[in-house]
Amino acid sequence: MLSSQVSQSPSCRAHKFGGSSLADAGRIRHVASLMLDAGESRQVVVVSAMQGTTNALIAMTAAAAAGEDWQSSWSALRAQHVDAASALIDAPADLHAWIDARFADIGDLLRAVSLLRQPGRAALDRIQGMGEVLSATLLEAHLRARGADYALLDARDVLLVRHAELGAVVDWEESARRLDAWRAANPQSRVVATGFVASGEDGLPTVLGRNGSDFSGAIFAALFDAAELHIWSDVDGVLSADPRLVPEAVSLAAMSYREACELAYFGAKVIHPQTMTPAIARGLPILMRNTFKPEFPGTRIDADGDGGSSGPVKGLTLDPGLALVSLEGAGLIGVPGTAERVFAALHAAKISVVMISQGSSEHSICSVVRERDVEAARRALLDAFSRELDGGQVQGVQVVPGISVLAAVGDGMAGKPGVAAQLFAALARARVNIRAIAQGASERNISVAIAAEDATRGLRAAHAAFWLSPQTLALAVIGPGKVGAALLDQLQAALPRLRVEANVDLRLRALATSRRMWLCDHGDPADWRARIEEPPTEADLDAITRHLLDSHLPHAVVIDCSASDSVAAQYPAWLAAGIHVITPNKHAGAGPLPRYAAIREARAQSGARFRYEATVGAGLPVISTLRDLLDTGDELVAVDGILSGTLAWLFNKFDGSTAFSDLVREAHALGYTEPDPRDDLSGMDVARKLVILGREAGVSLSLDDVEVESLVPTALRNADRDAFMAGLESLDAPMQAALDAARAKGCVLRYVARLQRDGNASVALQELPADHAFAHLRLTDNCVQFTTRRYRENPLVVQGPGAGPEVTAAGVFSDLLRLAAALGARL
Ligand code: ADP
Ligand code: ASP
Ligand code: MG
Repeated sequence: MLSSQVSQSPSCRAHKFGGSSLADAGRIRHVASLMLDAGESRQVVVVSAMQGTTNALIAMTAAAAAGEDWQSSWSALRAQHVDAASALIDAPADLHAWIDARFADIGDLLRAVSLLRQPGRAALDRIQGMGEVLSATLLEAHLRARGADYALLDARDVLLVRHAELGAVVDWEESARRLDAWRAANPQSRVVATGFVASGEDGLPTVLGRNGSDFSGAIFAALFDAAELHIWSDVDGVLSADPRLVPEAVSLAAMSYREACELAYFGAKVIHPQTMTPAIARGLPILMRNTFKPEFPGTRIDADGDGGSSGPVKGLTLDPGLALVSLEGAGLIGVPGTAERVFAALHAAKISVVMISQGSSEHSICSVVRERDVEAARRALLDAFSRELDGGQVQGVQVVPGISVLAAVGDGMAGKPGVAAQLFAALARARVNIRAIAQGASERNISVAIAAEDATRGLRAAHAAFWLSPQTLALAVIGPGKVGAALLDQLQAALPRLRVEANVDLRLRALATSRRMWLCDHGDPADWRARIEEPPTEADLDAITRHLLDSHLPHAVVIDCSASDSVAAQYPAWLAAGIHVITPNKHAGAGPLPRYAAIREARAQSGARFRYEATVGAGLPVISTLRDLLDTGDELVAVDGILSGTLAWLFNKFDGSTAFSDLVREAHALGYTEPDPRDDLSGMDVARKLVILGREAGVSLSLDDVEVESLVPTALRNADRDAFMAGLESLDAPMQAALDAARAKGCVLRYVARLQRDGNASVALQELPADHAFAHLRLTDNCVQFTTRRYRENPLVVQGPGAGPEVTAAGVFSDLLRLAAALGARL
C-alpha cells in the first residue's frame, strides 16, 4: 500500500518540529542547522506553525464571527511572518509577496466569516491550517538560501483523511498514490512538509485536530517509509509529569507505545495520542528530543520500552476541567444493563466520557466528563432514566464540577500489588480526597478523580511517592532566636546530603521574627538575616499560613522556635489546615488544657503531625522513649528527672566552697541561665516539662497541679531584675543550711521533678543518697528515669546534655526528619 517510489532505505528519518522550536527566525535558523547536520541520506521535516500562530488564527476567526475586530491581530501576525522572512533570507521580496498573498487570502476568508457571522467548518479549517503553510515555506526558503536542495510538500496536496468519531482517519492508499505523483515531480532526497493540515473527503483543506502535527509526523514517517520518527520540542523528551506542574519531573529514557498512549490519552501534552497508531503498525521507534539540547538522547518510544525495569509507575498526568456526573439509586442494585444505558445516553448526546467508576454495590454509577458537557450529560441521564426517577428506583443525578483526573501510568504496574495503595496513601498524606477511582483492565493505569484545587498538590505528592521526585516539604520557621538560628545552620549544612541520599527536599518558604517576616519560594537558610530586613515586612502569621498553603507542595510544616504563647495559640488552626507543627516551645504542651485538647483534636481530624521532642531534654529522646514504652503496652509507674541544665550545673557545683549567689552570677555570666535567672530558679521551667511528660503519659495535668518549690526568696519574687541580682545573697544562708543538712545524712542536693502514676507531681530540692544516679551527672546533663511495669526494679534512664541551642535544634531537626520519614521519605 505504500508508495513504491519512496526510498525503502532505513537511513530515511522523519523529524517533526513543534511550534516552540519555530517561534522566531533565530529558532528556525537553528532547526535548519540541525537538519543540515543530520547524517541520514533521506529526510522528511514536518513542521508546526510558528508558536502561537494557530491560537491567533482561531481567535481571529472567532472574533470575525462575533463581529469583533480581527484586523489588528491579523496585521501583527502578518508582520511577524514578514519580519521572519527578512531575517531568514537575503533577498526576501518574492517571499514577502507570497506571504502578503497568503494573508490576503486569510483576510478574505475572515471578512466572509464576519459577514456571515458564523465560522463555518470549511473557513475555520482553511484559516487555522495556514500557520503550517507559512512556517514550512519559511523553513524551506531558508534551507534553499543556505544552498540545500529541499522540496516543499503542502500536505493538503497529498494527505487525504476522513473525520470519524475518534479523530482523523488516513486514507493510506490514496495518500500514497498522491505522494507518488508528487514525488515524480519532486524527487529531492530531502523534504519539508506542513504538519497539521490535510485534505478532506470533500476535497477541501482540513486539519488533524489540535496538536495534530505530531500525527502528521508519524503519517509522513510511514508514507516515506522512514526508519525513525524524531519529535523535537522544548523539553528533554517525555517527562515523568508535566514540568509546569512538577518542576522536579525527570526525563524518561525509554517507554513503550502502550505507556505513551496512556500518558497521551490522559493529557500529557508532549505527544498527540494518534501519533502512535501509524508508528505501532510499523514498529517505528519514536524519539522525543529537545531542540535546544540536541546532544541529549531524550526518550525512545517503541514496542518494548524498558520492560517496566524503571519501577511500576512511569509517569503521571493531570487532566483538568472535568466534572463528575453520577446516577444514584437503590433500584440500580443488581439490575443488568444500567451501565450500558448510562453510556448509551451519554454517547447519544455526543459526550465523551473520560473515566467511569462503579462501586461493586452498584448503588451508583459515576462518570467523569468535560466540565462544558456536564449540563448536557445531566439532562441526558435524567431523560434516559425518567421512568426510574418517577418510580423512585433512581434517586437522582448528581453533578460535581471542578474535577481533575490524576492518572498513574506504567507497564510495570501490571500484576504488581500495592501500587494503588501507594498512590492512595500519598494522596491521603497530602490531604487530597479521592472522589472516584478507575483502573484500566490492562492494569497499566490507575486514575483518580479529585477536586481541581487539590490537583497540583496531589500530583506532586504522588510524584514523590513513586520516587520520581524528592519528598518535598514547605517550611516556615518562626522565631529564629538562638535555637532557630542553630536549626537554620544545621538545615543549611544538611540540605544537599538529604536531597541526594534521602530524596528529601526541605524548602524554606517563610521565616518570621516577632516583628518581621520573609516570604519566599525556595529560600536559602543562610540568607535569612539579610532578607528579613530587606524589604522590611511586618510579621503576619495569617499571611505565612496562606503562603505555605499556596505553594501546592504536598506537605507544609511550621517550626515554632519562639517562646511565645501567642504563636502556640495558632497550633490548632495550623493543624486543622493540615500543616504539621514541630516545636521546642513549651507553651502548647504545658499550656491550658482546653487548648491542648484542641490541638489533639485538630491533629486527629486532619492527620497533621505535632512533634515536640525538644521541649523536654533538648535533643535527648525523652518523649519518644516514653511514647515507645507506652505504645508497646508498658505502664508508667513514675518519672523522675533532672530536667534543668541550669539547676543541674548549680547543684553539681555547690559544695559550700563558693557562695550559692556567686554560682548563680557565674552561671548567668556563662549564659547557662535565662536572661532573668528567676525563670530557672523558680522551678516553673521544670514544672512545664513535667506537665508535658505527664500529658504524654495520659495524665491530664496542668501547671497548677504541680507542687513547685521555688528557690527564689519570697521577697525577691516581684522585684525587678536588677534588684533581684543585687539581692542574690539572701539565697546563701538557706542554701548553705540545706546543703549542711543533706551532708549530715551523707546525701547530696538535687532539684528533682517527680510524677507518679496517680498524677501526683512535684518539683523540689531533694536530698539524694550519694550513690543515686542523679548524684553523678556531668555538669549540665539532664537525666530522666522511667519506672514502669517492665522497668520496675531497674528504671530506664535517658541521660545526656539537655540544654543549649545546638542540641535543642538537633532535637527539632530530628523531629522534622521523623516527619519526613512518616510522609514517605527514604530515611
Ligand atoms: P510542541 O509545540 O513542541 O508540540 P507542546 O507545547 O505541544 O510542544 O508540548 C510540549 C510541552 O508539553 C512541554 O513544553 C511541556 O511543558 C508539556 N508537557 C506536559 N506534560 C509533559 C510530559 N509528561 N513530558 C514532557 N512535556 C510535557
Ligand atoms: N499548530 C497546530 C496546533 O497548534 C498543530 C500542532 O502544533 O501540532 O494545534
Ligand atoms: Mg505538540
